[in-house]
Parts: sequence; C-alpha cells; structure tokens
Amino acid sequence: MIMKIGFIGLGIMGKPMSKNLLKEGYELVVNDNKAEAVAELVAAGATAAANAKEVAQQADVIITMLPNSPHVKAAVLGENGVIEGAKAGAVVIDMSSIAPLASREIYEELAKKGIEMLDAPVSGGEPKAIDGTLSVMVGGKKAVFDQYFDVMKAMAGSVVYTGGIGAGNVTKLANQVIVALNIAAMSEALVLATKAGVDPELVYQAIRGGLAGSTVLDAKAPMVLSRNFKPGFRIELHIKDLANALDTSHGVGAHLPLTAAVMEMMQNLKADGFAAEDHSALARYYEKVANAEVKSGS
Ligand code: NAD
Repeated sequence: MIMKIGFIGLGIMGKPMSKNLLKEGYELVVNDNKAEAVAELVAAGATAAANAKEVAQQADVIITMLPNSPHVKAAVLGENGVIEGAKAGAVVIDMSSIAPLASREIYEELAKKGIEMLDAPVSGGEPKAIDGTLSVMVGGKKAVFDQYFDVMKAMAGSVVYTGGIGAGNVTKLANQVIVALNIAAMSEALVLATKAGVDPELVYQAIRGGLAGSTVLDAKAPMVLSRNFKPGFRIELHIKDLANALDTSHGVGAHLPLTAAVMEMMQNLKADGFAAEDHSALARYYEKVANAEVKSGS
C-alpha cells in the first residue's frame, strides 16, 4: 500500500519539498492558508483538504512546514488541528524551525493520543529544497526516525539523527547561529574591501578557495555583489531563529554574545523596512554605517 502523506505549509520551502514527495510516488493531501499555493500543488497531483484536521484524517504521516512555534501549535494542537483528526499510530514530522521547548510541548500533547512526533528542521534553503538535497536534523525516538527515514530522504541529501525530541531544533539553532555570524563576517569584510578601494568581486574570487571560503560565502556573496536580495531566507525568519537561540541559551546558561550583536543588526534592518529581504541584506547594515555600497566592479 502506498503511504499517504499530509503536508501543511506550502511556502518557499514547503512547496518544492512537497513536489519532491509527489515525484517519489507518495500520495499527498495538502493544506495552506493561501489558496494559490494549494492550487499549485493540486495541479501537480496532490489533493486538497480544508484544514489540518482533514489532512490528518486522510494521512498516516503529517508533515508541517510552517514559520514558527505558534503556527505549528495552532496547526497541530489548535481548533481543527492535526490532533483532532489523526489516528493513534500516526506520526507528525515537523520540519519547521521552531523553539526546541515548543517541540517538546507539542510532542507531550500528541503522545496523550498515541500520536508520534519527530522534530526535523532543515538547512539548505530554497535551492536545495528544489533539488531535494536538504540537510535534515532529526529529534525523537530512534525507532520512529528509522521507520520514516525514507520519507525524509525523499526531500534531502542527508538525514541525521541528533537525539530525543527537540534535538533537531537545538541542532538547527546551532546552524542558524553559524550562518548569521558568517553573513555578518562576510559583510564586514566586503565593506572593508570596498572602503579600501579594492573591488569586492575580486576579493571574493581570490579568497573563496582558501580558508575563508564557505558554503555561506558562495551562496551569499554573489547576491550582495549583484544587489539581489530576493529571498531565499527572509531577515524576519532569521530574527525568529536568533530569538529562539537567545531564549534557549538563557534557559540552559550558554553565552551567545556574537549572536546577540547580529540580532541587533537584523532588528535595525527590520526597522529600516528590510524584514522581507534575504538575510544576505545584512550587508546593508554595514553599508549604512560605512556609507558605502558593495557591488561588482566598484
Ligand atoms: P513561508 O512563510 O514561505 O511559508 C510558510 C507557509 O505556511 C505559508 O505559505 C503560510 O501561508 C503557511 N501557513 C502559516 N500558518 C498556517 C496554518 N496555521 N495552516 C496552514 N498554513 C499555514 O516560510 P518558509 O521560508 O517556507 O519557511 C518555513 C520554515 O522553514 C520556517 O520555520 C523557516 O525558518 C524554515 N526554513 C526556511 C528556509 C528558507 O530558506 N526559506 C531554510 C531552512 C528552513
């Protein structure tokens, strides 16, 4: 029997991820607040459900790909939510990036009804969601991870078990700290080059193969140099992740001074109206302070 998968949240990430499940031959029932997104998936071969409860009534596995903890709580535990429709023995795979504590709270509520859950956030952004080469970091019971590995692998290049429920989102917070600080370092360096009169494009080409080279540098420097800040990953979503990282760090007694500094830069950009731009627009903060613009040939 073909496994039927429910997919809730068809945004920048959820749309290509759900299309990859269709390509792998899974049957899909989908839901999103935006009718256009649902229509696009129906055209690709999915069926539509009116709400999360109806998705869960028809599926053995329910995947959520939503912005943050409150959205996942609403879709899973709220009125007409997954918990009202799912059968005992079903599993929720939450692939959103949310607070680890929220993952644990949702897990506890689902467990009361015999519903399993994995927290399985992803890294790689829209290009890797389209290619089906995302990195997935997964928390939950190991046996449940093993059972649903193939479903996650249909959307990913790597799927790694990181521990009990919430461990996937702790791993994702670590990822987001590293990405944010890398973009800040890159922006600082490219503004330095520009102010010092050296073409930042040539600086990027010269250093990308050395120790300073990175996946972040190769993904984000070309965007800054070509002044293309179309998301990608929006600044407002990165603010959400850094807020979750700082909250979590306060709870466990870790110290994140660099994360706190980059968080303030992103808040400044949000106040300037750039919240919906790609996080590579962090360069705008340094440009504003230095009164310079980083671009190819400058
Ligand atoms: P998005 O805002 O593009 O998509 C979210 C979708 O959820 C929207 O289509 C919205 O209509 C829908 N939605 C919200 N609440 C809903 C509800 N209650 N019921 C049904 N639909 C609802 O966001 P995205 O960029 O696809 O990101 C989704 C998650 O993945 C976030 O947690 C984000 O941090 C994470 N993520 C994003 C990227 C990226 O590059 N965009 C990369 C890795 C991880």
